[in-house]
Amino acid sequence: MTDGHCSFFLEKKRRFCRFKPNSGQKYCAEHTGLLGIPTDRKRIICPIDTKHTCYEDQLTKHLKKCRKQQGVLPAYHCPGINSGEADEDDLDAKFSLLDIPTEDLKQLILKINKLYDEHIKIPTEILSHSCLEEELCNNSYGIPAIRHRKQQASLIGHLEKMGLIKEAMTFVELGAGKGMLSHWIQKASEENDNCNYILVDRGTCRYKVGYYP
Ligand SMILES: [Zn+2]
Ligand SMILES: [Zn+2]
Repeated sequence: MTDGHCSFFLEKKRRFCRFKPNSGQKYCAEHTGLLGIPTDRKRIICPIDTKHTCYEDQLTKHLKKCRKQQGVLPAYHCPGINSGEADEDDLDAKFSLLDIPTEDLKQLILKINKLYDEHIKIPTEILSHSCLEEELCNNSYGIPAIRHRKQQASLIGHLEKMGLIKEAMTFVELGAGKGMLSHWIQKASEENDNCNYILVDRGTCRYKVGYYP
């Protein structure tokens, strides 16, 4: 064996393969399969790229990694599906705010405000919820922390009003961060069985609040 690496000699590269074999094996998984050496786990040809193989029992995991590496989009991925009916050419066109004349920008802002006033009617209705009662009375919190909690209490109040705080519900919190909102919804749902909480965020957040079974 060559210093813990696969013993397969690559003629073209004039060196040994650099992959690590599994413990007790002379060759890496790829070359063990290529040489037809029987092992406990079956390797199959990768459906994305027939030039390599992967473990059959790890196919899903491998496909995910392999797609990423090869830039292959999954079958359900349609680029620009949510961008309206613009011409395909327009989809890639990017503008910088600096490229647009100030006057055009002002007109656009006026237009948006006008359309908003004419068509969007959302009455402000600030509600609250008992699950945050104690928190809202906590004098040690600063203004931002209280504002945040008032907002969450209102959101949960609205969920309650719409009859959504009940059993067997699944709550998806987009841009969840620490998962504060889910935490309070969970508290509001303490008596409801079979609720699920899905926290979605692009970044990772180190300190999540609460416990989500
Ligand atoms: Zn090898
Ligand atoms: Zn592959």
